[in-house]
Amino acid sequence: MRLLVVEDEPDLLRSMSQALREEGYAVDVAEDGEEGLHKARTWDYDAIVLDVMLPVMDGWNVLKRLREQKRTPVLLLTARDATADRVRGLDAGADDYLVKPFELDELFARLRALIRRTASVTTSVVEVGVVRLDLAARLVFSEGERVALTAREYALLEYLVLHRGEVVTRSALYDHLFDENDDSLSNLLDVHVSNLRKKLGPDLITTRRGHGYCIEV
Ligand code: CA
Repeated sequence: MRLLVVEDEPDLLRSMSQALREEGYAVDVAEDGEEGLHKARTWDYDAIVLDVMLPVMDGWNVLKRLREQKRTPVLLLTARDATADRVRGLDAGADDYLVKPFELDELFARLRALIRRTASVTTSVVEVGVVRLDLAARLVFSEGERVALTAREYALLEYLVLHRGEVVTRSALYDHLFDENDDSLSNLLDVHVSNLRKKLGPDLITTRRGHGYCIEV
């Protein structure tokens, strides 16, 4: 999953993006509203974390202008006790909000829920044959046994599961799993797929030659 975080407080931006990367997300960042809007229009993010108080263009305007062309899920960061801000945000097309200051765990949980809702996955546990994925706890089991995956492997599996039954192209996977600063060495998609097959069985992910990968329904 690839996220955009728009936040002008350097410490908060750094801590959020670092923590989200450790969770396996690809993360792009923007430090003002104009840069945020530009990136949000350019890429198809799985979700956007958008601060309301931003230089150059505030979060309301970013949201309003983004909604003129895109439905990307947006989680707004609002100031404490500003009920009017939250109502305004939801009316303007925000999908959820979080009040500052917040715990990173709550940010993670809300983003997971937002991404699941967008993929129309209503339960947090998904079964594919003998493999069971707990999307809320980010745990994977095979025949009831816990299987340890790297953050990248998990991200790849989760993306395919949330798009189950669709052929996901390699370029879509590159766009959604890697951020703009990723170097080519970490982009070894085939290696990640091969590792997933070793850990979870050869039949889980189907290769569609010339098209991409698929988890069958
Ligand atoms: Ca701010």
